[in-house]
Amino acid sequence: MACIEVEAGKRKTCDEDDNDIEKKLCSTNRKVSSTEAPHLTTKRSDYLEWPEYFMAIAFLSAQRSKDPFSQVGACIVNGEKKIVGIGYNGMPIGCSDDELPWQRTAENRLDTKYPYVCHAELNAILNKNAADVKNCTIYVALFPCNECAKLVIQSGIRQVVYMSDKYHDKPEMIASRRLLQMAGVKFDIVAPVHTKDRIGAAISLMDFTLGRSDT
Ligand SMILES: [Zn+2]
Repeated sequence: MACIEVEAGKRKTCDEDDNDIEKKLCSTNRKVSSTEAPHLTTKRSDYLEWPEYFMAIAFLSAQRSKDPFSQVGACIVNGEKKIVGIGYNGMPIGCSDDELPWQRTAENRLDTKYPYVCHAELNAILNKNAADVKNCTIYVALFPCNECAKLVIQSGIRQVVYMSDKYHDKPEMIASRRLLQMAGVKFDIVAPVHTKDRIGAAISLMDFTLGRSDT
């Protein structure tokens, strides 16, 4: 047993053989009076906002990608703030990512990754765990290309939230914006610095929980 419940206002105690993590949880969860530690009686204020949370999940998913040049993740969320699809860029199922090429340039286009790779948005849409993704929002690191814009529109997604638009002037992105605007799909950018800080904080917390922190 990790914790022993006591009456309000008294400290909880841990069994002598509890490990350090259990003791930390025990001391964190114990009831305290407002005079003992008033700052602990209010909720945290530095929690993740929803867009940061979903974008962080997109970035975490991107780390599954085998692409040596570009790792992109996508996270689809419904109107109830529930995640209904996650994806990252990769080769199609059953097609060896050891045999297909990953390079971006070659004399023959068939020796580049482009004819083969599935973008994160496509995988997130097809990986959906709901009947459909109508009226959903897709969080994706990079502004979607024209092919993914078609998928977004046809699947009924109504909003794209992205962090980077570094290919803004490429024809694929110009066509993408044109299609999304014509179809009435909203697209909004999120502030990268804030989200980056949040992801860093989450990793620090993971280090602390796993006992890797120096502090
Ligand atoms: Zn795409």
